Amino acid sequence: MTVIDATAAYPIPLAWPRLAMDLKRVDAIAIHHTVTFFLSPSATVEEEQNHIQMIHWYHLSKGWGGFAYHLISFPSGRVYLVVPLTQWGAHVHAENDHLHAVVVAGDFTDRAPVLAQQQGVAEGIRLIYAALGRQVSIRPHRSWGGTACPGDAWQSWVPGLTALVEEDAMIMVRADDGSPEVYSWGGGTILVHLDRATYDILKGQGVREVVLPAAFIDRLAAFSG
Ligand SMILES: [Zn+2]
Repeated sequence: MTVIDATAAYPIPLAWPRLAMDLKRVDAIAIHHTVTFFLSPSATVEEEQNHIQMIHWYHLSKGWGGFAYHLISFPSGRVYLVVPLTQWGAHVHAENDHLHAVVVAGDFTDRAPVLAQQQGVAEGIRLIYAALGRQVSIRPHRSWGGTACPGDAWQSWVPGLTALVEEDAMIMVRADDGSPEVYSWGGGTILVHLDRATYDILKGQGVREVVLPAAFIDRLAAFSG
């Protein structure tokens, strides 16, 4: 599953406390849980977007400028980019100038997210790695202190994210004419998540980068929407 880019729906001014992120300074990804009610794995995109909107308004009311995390993963396995990776989040006290954030929707005090939701987190982490051009450490929010986030069950799933990130096949695909609205990261570079068989074929042919025609990208955008 690809990351759904929802940044256009939740614009956050580039002003304190949501300044521009210097990607060279990013040295870790903080993993959070929302501690809100649990959406079922069969939730619709509309229900998930309503959930994002609710959190966005709540965080606005707290004076944080809007949605606090960069990415949010749902039990459906869908993962949304809500805040551009080039902007600070508002999720770890006094550390937002060098961290990206992925949050799992739900309360995971006593249990781990379902596997699909963990895979959504892994997908988000792959996007961050692609944007940074390198890997950084993956840490539970609590490792910075002052919180139990992302819940007491964190040890049963957060350390396993590293393997999940590496497990699924991924290939970088580059658009040939500018940046499509939905899949644009880093100057027209997009990520397409291929099934294992297709990946193995392309990898066997030594393909690491594919230039796609614009029409194909439009179809991808429609597929993800
Ligand atoms: Zn947290």
